[in-house]
Amino acid sequence: MKSESSLSSIDIVTTPNNLERPLHVLEKPKVLLVRPPQLFYFGVWPKGPRLGLPIGLLSIATYLKDRRIDVEVYDCFVEGDTFKGNTFNPSNSVFSGNLVNQWIRNFEDGGVAAKDIKNKEEMLHFGASWGQLKKDLKRLQPDIVGLTNLFRENTNETIKAAELIRQVLPDTVIVVGGPNASALPEYILDESPAVDIIGLGDGERIMHEIVEWVQGNRSLSTIESIMYRDSKINVSTPKRELLTDLDELGHIDYNLLKLERYFTYERNGIMARNKLSYDGAERSVSLVTSRGCPYKCSFCSIHIHAGRKYRRYSVEHVLDHIENLTKKHGVNHIHFEDDNLTLDRKRFMELMNGIIDRKLKFTWDTPNGTFANALDEEMMVLIKKTGCTYLIVAPESGDQWVIDNVIGKQPLTLDNVTRIFQLAKKIGIDMQAFYIIGFPRETLKQINTTLEFAMDALKKYDVLPHMAMARADPGTDLFAEAQMNGHLVTDVAVSNTGGVHSDMFTRHLIKNKEFDPESLGKINESFHRTAIRVSSIKTLKHLLRKPSIALSSISYFFKNFRKSETIRDNIIKLFFCRLFYLNSLSRISEYENKQKIA
Ligand code: SF4
Repeated sequence: MKSESSLSSIDIVTTPNNLERPLHVLEKPKVLLVRPPQLFYFGVWPKGPRLGLPIGLLSIATYLKDRRIDVEVYDCFVEGDTFKGNTFNPSNSVFSGNLVNQWIRNFEDGGVAAKDIKNKEEMLHFGASWGQLKKDLKRLQPDIVGLTNLFRENTNETIKAAELIRQVLPDTVIVVGGPNASALPEYILDESPAVDIIGLGDGERIMHEIVEWVQGNRSLSTIESIMYRDSKINVSTPKRELLTDLDELGHIDYNLLKLERYFTYERNGIMARNKLSYDGAERSVSLVTSRGCPYKCSFCSIHIHAGRKYRRYSVEHVLDHIENLTKKHGVNHIHFEDDNLTLDRKRFMELMNGIIDRKLKFTWDTPNGTFANALDEEMMVLIKKTGCTYLIVAPESGDQWVIDNVIGKQPLTLDNVTRIFQLAKKIGIDMQAFYIIGFPRETLKQINTTLEFAMDALKKYDVLPHMAMARADPGTDLFAEAQMNGHLVTDVAVSNTGGVHSDMFTRHLIKNKEFDPESLGKINESFHRTAIRVSSIKTLKHLLRKPSIALSSISYFFKNFRKSETIRDNIIKLFFCRLFYLNSLSRISEYENKQKIA
């Protein structure tokens, strides 16, 4: 672990490939797929970046391996000679000194302006050092390197990694892919002369065809959905037809990852996602059963990478995948990362029933949210039976006019959202909800309607709110509208200081006649203060009513207490990983009792 300031700068080296033909034609090129290390500001619990498995790289690696291509995954998060999985333990938080502020950051998802960060020296480097990466690149000598760039927040590290690779391996072909690369291909090519090719969208077939190009079996211009530099001009090839039957991508080969290292981190509190935490649930993985979403929410950039067509793995394929994870790799918690897991009701019901029929034992959640209109009571009962610890829905707004006319999330109705909240409470499923405030055509009155809706849902149905300020990402309708009408406010920020992921990045917030980012930030903070008070009081009342849960939580607190962290952080962990799950807790204590008997 090093602070950013101690890193030496890396010289930019221009690519030697003119790309009409590869510099070296190789019969058996070696491919290395890399997730770069990350820089981020840390806040409170969990203390580390989002640690999820690099599932995109893993799928590409599986696809290449199935075609007998020499491929390896190098995930900087778990690489390094000194890996212990418990060494990442920052002692200060950028929000230290104020418990309420720390608490709020765990609920918020809006990012923090760089100017508000007190001590920039606290920016930390997570994962293998640049020196370690350099050493390993020299040892591994790949002919093609694929870099993943998932979030806007990771753009700088991606570019830095590309430049380092070019410095160490001047002849290597460097490809960058992932959702952010798909959204900003020209920016990355212009900013980094070291990068040769940007892959746009699904990476499996693109990387395979790049291997074929290096083998001398095709020209680069025949590879669809890529962008590359030709005589200093960025050239895009035609868009490829999206793969609809995802089974064609094969069965994920987890032996391509150092899986146990991720679980070691989880045991030490650096988690893939915030999740309900109980004994034995540390072995969690992220899994995607579908790609793409047919809806057109104005703020959403998913279509740029994954398209608007809902594409899926077959139910049998997903069940085999889960069986492999639970039975061969000891996984006991799955984060379904689909953008819309419940969109196809028939398929979803088959999946849930298949889990029951095959007696697959694990708990699960949906960190990216589900579409409330697609849910009904029969589905909710199966969701509970199959071990869902929390379900997230994304109404986005509490004002139907804003949903219909500003966000464009039709056919979502607030009546349906409320119906699902009621059902969840009745059946005993913990719910969380995503909301966004601050769209260009939104009024303060409409924002207040959303705040009231969210607070009402928390008070009546225990629905934990995640209230974010609208962020306009390039490529979205929201960005186009805000840019055209002069509503954009651009600054440099760090994102998710609760510890998810973050380097400095440029963000675009919104202002209009009634609000600006500063006034909106205050409204948001005040909302979260109230939400936290309400949640905490609810939790305490629940504990008084259910002494067995109070006892098991005390035992959890002492068992999971980390001396290396402050008492405050341990208390925050207790609430965010356990006590805010009012409905699930009853089931969890039953589960733990059964475990003890077993
Ligand atoms: S439903 Fe979700 S994934 Fe689909 S467009 Fe809207 S925000 Fe994006």
